[in-house]
Amino acid sequence: MNPADRLRELAIRHAAFAWLDRQRAEGKETFSQQDTSGLTLAGETMRLMPTQQGIWKPGQLAAALSFRTVYRPDGSNRPYDDAVGVDGFYRYKMRGDDPNHFENRALREAMIERLPLIWWLGVQGGGYSALYPIYLVGEERADLQFVVDIDAVPQPDIAWPSTDLELDPSYRQQLTKRRLHQRPFRAAVLRAYRTSCAVCSFRHSDLLDAAHIQEDGAGGRPVVTNGLTLCKMHHAAYDRKILGITPDYEVRINAEVLREVDGPMLLHGIQEFHGQKLMVLPARRAERPNRLLLDERFQAFLNAS
Ligand SMILES: [Zn+2]
Repeated sequence: MNPADRLRELAIRHAAFAWLDRQRAEGKETFSQQDTSGLTLAGETMRLMPTQQGIWKPGQLAAALSFRTVYRPDGSNRPYDDAVGVDGFYRYKMRGDDPNHFENRALREAMIERLPLIWWLGVQGGGYSALYPIYLVGEERADLQFVVDIDAVPQPDIAWPSTDLELDPSYRQQLTKRRLHQRPFRAAVLRAYRTSCAVCSFRHSDLLDAAHIQEDGAGGRPVVTNGLTLCKMHHAAYDRKILGITPDYEVRINAEVLREVDGPMLLHGIQEFHGQKLMVLPARRAERPNRLLLDERFQAFLNAS
């Protein structure tokens, strides 16, 4: 690829990422094909998602722009984990069994030119979450797969470990799995709770988190029934066991914190929720929080009080 072509490829990709950033800033987490069609990017009209197969190369580009992984509800409980290698890199299967199929060549071109891509990850309940920028850092032709690096994807909610990743590859593998699930999990949980905090119904998406009931590190699955949409304040209070949620969906506040005297935030933001029912639950019963997981977490809250 000559330098001018490569620059043009980059300009279109950066315009696509900027468009996605704006959508996310407005609270959009889940995308359909229709949402991402007919966009004008650096003067070109194109869509961002494949329609049929998993790999998408727009006619105006020489390399693939995106690829897709569907959500499989009846497969693994953690649908993307199987393909994360011990080196912490994900393996994306080539199209068919010919490494030189034109779609595989389009992915290879993005790999050779180090062009960033979008990875569409299926969201529980429908639609796709966008992971970007993604890089392909190798291929394993005998196994018909590309090696995917997600390290460049911003993940503000996951702290980097102090562990030396090179000395502890299994930690790197775990971290990649967590990072892979983070966005589709958030998209599914925020959709189920209509982008509102379960405790207080606060609706500003920038200040909302998808909280795990059973924590990721304790084997918690990235599914809606193990999630709660919580505002930053109530998420932190839940994690620090200042706030508990009973298996009957009622809020409890730590007794010591209930007695504290502070200002309006403590009074209205925390203490007044003691004994209240959750204000927001998923409309579909099958998506409501798993009572066994809530109970386990509530016992930990009681033990800490
Ligand atoms: Zn809240």
